[in-house]
Amino acid sequence: MIVRDRRCVGCHAPAVRCQVHHVHWWRAGGPTDVDNLTLLCWSCHADVHHGRATVTRQPDGRYTTHHWAASRPPAAAAAPAGRHTA
Ligand SMILES: [Zn+2]
Repeated sequence: MIVRDRRCVGCHAPAVRCQVHHVHWWRAGGPTDVDNLTLLCWSCHADVHHGRATVTRQPDGRYTTHHWAASRPPAAAAAPAGRHTA
């Protein structure tokens, strides 16, 4: 993973500050296989696990992360009924 990712795929923090992330989550049956693993720093890792960022595999096999700071993920885009959204 260090050879492929070299650093956090979310913010480019050095690999020494990263944790291993199961892209298809381990608790959801994701394998501990290099093709399903990527490097995320603790902050980006928390963002992914709290729905604030999404990891996507690119056609070349590398992973990128989209942080939802300026937008909201599609599943969270719709506000609950009756809730003020201003
Ligand atoms: Zn990061």
